[in-house]
Amino acid sequence: MKKLYSANNLIEAQMILYLLEHAYIRAKVLNTHAQGGVGEIPFTHTYPEIWIVHDDDLEKARSIIDAYENTPIEVGYVHCPACGEQNPRNFQLCWQCGEGLEIAHLKLDGT
Ligand SMILES: [Zn+2]
Repeated sequence: MKKLYSANNLIEAQMILYLLEHAYIRAKVLNTHAQGGVGEIPFTHTYPEIWIVHDDDLEKARSIIDAYENTPIEVGYVHCPACGEQNPRNFQLCWQCGEGLEIAHLKLDGT
């Protein structure tokens, strides 16, 4: 297990988790607020952390994080083709169900 990333919130943590799963990288979110009483959670660690299960995946996972962080934040929303949830336009996967949003982007482009 290696720590990959500290997310700003649970939604972001979930997003990154889905991105990693899409690349067949096993990861876990730790230090979430919901984990009351499980293990010892240091008081200072209030942000959800993404941990890679297999250390060998770290380099690949970091490149995914790089791509995620370098994605320009666009104004606007896109609706998930699977569950209809509204997602920020720069999201690649639905934060709620994990469905790929590329399909929705393609439809917007008319291709
Ligand atoms: Zn969805």
